[in-house]
Amino acid sequence: MDCIFCKIIAGEIPSQKVYEDDRVLAFHDINPIAPVHILVVPKRHIPSLLAIQSDDQELVGELHLALQHVAKEMGVADSGFRVITNTGTHGQQTVHHLHYHLIGGRQLEWKA
Ligand code: AMP
Ligand code: ZN
Repeated sequence: MDCIFCKIIAGEIPSQKVYEDDRVLAFHDINPIAPVHILVVPKRHIPSLLAIQSDDQELVGELHLALQHVAKEMGVADSGFRVITNTGTHGQQTVHHLHYHLIGGRQLEWKA
């Protein structure tokens, strides 16, 4: 499948990993918009938030626990951070493999 994140998960494209377990991978975004900008992804290809199924509920929970772990690991748990999942055209999703941006390390603004 022609999916850049599947290739990262398969080790075919290099990434700077910060967390990995059986079902979840976290790595640095190649084009960070803040001092901390990590992508947290399921290892299984799920195209977007809209494609999550009832069977994926445990996996979604694991992704959230991974986000919590990465926030602590990257030192932004106390200062605060933001988690974003861009979805579809208006959401400006460019990679069609479910991913959560974890952004922090500076004061963020709220403007969409
Ligand atoms: P989105 O626009 O929400 O779909 O986010 C896709 C993100 O993937 C962007 O922030 C890109 O900078 C990031 N990205 C694309 N290719 C790579 C790569 N090879 N390694 C790490 N991050 C990437
Ligand atoms: Zn994929």
